[in-house]
Amino acid sequence: MPIYEYRCLNCQKRFNLLIRGFSSLPSPRCPLCGSERADRLISRFSVVRSEESQLEALADPSQLGDLDENDPRSVARWARKMSKQVGEDLGPEFDEMVGRLEAGEDPESVERAMGLAEPDLGPPEDL
Ligand SMILES: [Zn+2]
Repeated sequence: MPIYEYRCLNCQKRFNLLIRGFSSLPSPRCPLCGSERADRLISRFSVVRSEESQLEALADPSQLGDLDENDPRSVARWARKMSKQVGEDLGPEFDEMVGRLEAGEDPESVERAMGLAEPDLGPPEDL
């Protein structure tokens, strides 16, 4: 779940999006003015090559030693660490997501509920 940082082209406000995977970037929407015109900034975390190198770049590897993507509470701990590294308020959606993870909800279903995961529509060729 990499975090990308955007800057709104309308009001210049910076905001972050938590994104799963690299093929499904959502269109960013500024939380302040609602504009969908935003530039993705070079995240201080993300040199995107693979998920593994992304994770390595995220933080000191020793901090990721206990990350288990299948354990919601582990993911929640990791997300909180990551938000501290970002040093910015990631917004109520982030807090809600982490809260649900800490309550033991499945990360996949939390992401789906939060609209962070792409709906599984199958390949377009099949339509
Ligand atoms: Zn804006």
